[in-house]
Amino acid sequence: MRTIAVVGTGYVGLVTGVSLSEIGHTVTCIDIDEEKVLKMQQGFSPIYEPGLSDMMTKNINENRLFFTTQHEEGFENAEVIYIAVGTPEKEDGSANLAFVEQVAKDIATNVSRDTIVVTKSTVPVGTNDRIQSIIDHHLVANVKVEVVSNPEFLKEGSAIYDSFNGDRIVVGTASEEAANVIEEINQPFGVPVFRTDVKSAEMIKYASNAFLATKISFINEISNICERLNANVEDVANGMGMDKRIGDKFLNAGIGYGGSCFPKDTKALVQIAGNVEYDFNLLKGVIRVNQYQQRLLLNKLYKRVPNIKGKRIAVLGLSFKPNTDDMREAASIPIIKSLVDKNVEVVTYDPIAIEKAKKIFNSTVQYASSIEDALKGSSAAIILTEWNEIKYLPPSTFKIMEYPLLFDGRNCFSLKTMEDEYIEYHSIGRPTVS
Ligand code: NAD
Repeated sequence: MRTIAVVGTGYVGLVTGVSLSEIGHTVTCIDIDEEKVLKMQQGFSPIYEPGLSDMMTKNINENRLFFTTQHEEGFENAEVIYIAVGTPEKEDGSANLAFVEQVAKDIATNVSRDTIVVTKSTVPVGTNDRIQSIIDHHLVANVKVEVVSNPEFLKEGSAIYDSFNGDRIVVGTASEEAANVIEEINQPFGVPVFRTDVKSAEMIKYASNAFLATKISFINEISNICERLNANVEDVANGMGMDKRIGDKFLNAGIGYGGSCFPKDTKALVQIAGNVEYDFNLLKGVIRVNQYQQRLLLNKLYKRVPNIKGKRIAVLGLSFKPNTDDMREAASIPIIKSLVDKNVEVVTYDPIAIEKAKKIFNSTVQYASSIEDALKGSSAAIILTEWNEIKYLPPSTFKIMEYPLLFDGRNCFSLKTMEDEYIEYHSIGRPTVS
């Protein structure tokens, strides 16, 4: 078992640290956010992720998991250091590498033994070489530091599950020795390891996210055509997905992708391509379609309820997807902003993300403590996140509204059910039930 440091305790860093401690390694997680570190030291997870809290407490109690704000303390004795800090989007769409570069300098000035540095953060092709040269340039001690690319593929909402059941672990390095160490560290997860060179590993991450985003935008465009032709995109997707070459995942039409990865990684890949004078036309289209798709549900609502000013509208689901409290790039943000700009009385409900949502919407919206409370007195409801609690709601609940008028951005209900319940139902890529 190894002594490991993880720098950055966001969705990726914390899950990585906790999972590595769960399989027996001794892990110190480092973050510059003092409040966050204090919370974690007391056993509280700063993020919602199924299974994370319990696993965290268990490994803290078993003395395998530690938290600190001090890089020096965290790096002491670390044989392997994971970089898991954010790489947010810059104004031009490219990835902001300032946090990663700062960590590289921190590593160079603090390590006192031979170390393998593992980059989990999503970074543009060539960045690991840059991290290596920053470290080599600033290195204080007379030790060897080897940088390895190990992009992360976890999905928020099932991140702990994914650590133990992932499809692959990608290890990019020219050093067989370093690859052996990373493979050995991960061996208890039982996930297949794919070895490649550094640049290909970096590209696998962007290409994977871009491909998934393409699948979403593709089915969303098909859904828009279905609407005009009175076809049903759900049946179309089911029929397509039975073809194993296509696969049945990521074919759910809706109001597009959000979150902290797809929007920024697709834009970053357009930039990466542009830097080598390649115009990634297809991906530009994917991004455009996604932006259009977010407006679609609102356009339907505004068309159906032209005098919306002053009306009360229930918004069900705020996080960018179910089982997470992550609000980054959630469709709810532009949608609610548009409603508020039109002087709509917005009443929101989300089972988990309310605290994070309050930091974004402040007092511009109301926060209901149940779906029923949100629906009471509302002229219409819109569904933005397919939480189970929303998806499996008895449809008759919508009759709490004066008139049951529902706009569903995630196609949670079957048309037949809504017909049987006499609910006016507008969804994505399927005929309207009126
Ligand atoms: P995040 O923003 O949730 O967390 C980043 C953390 O790093 C923050 O807690 C921040 O305080 C900390 N930090 C910043 N600078 C630091 C420093 N110098 N030292 C110590 N801590 C520092 O980010 P995230 O969502 O976990 O993503 C991290 C990386 O992983 C990104 O590159 C992202 O693209 C990638 N990724 C994310 C996901 C996901 O689902 N969130 C999935 C795969 C890959």
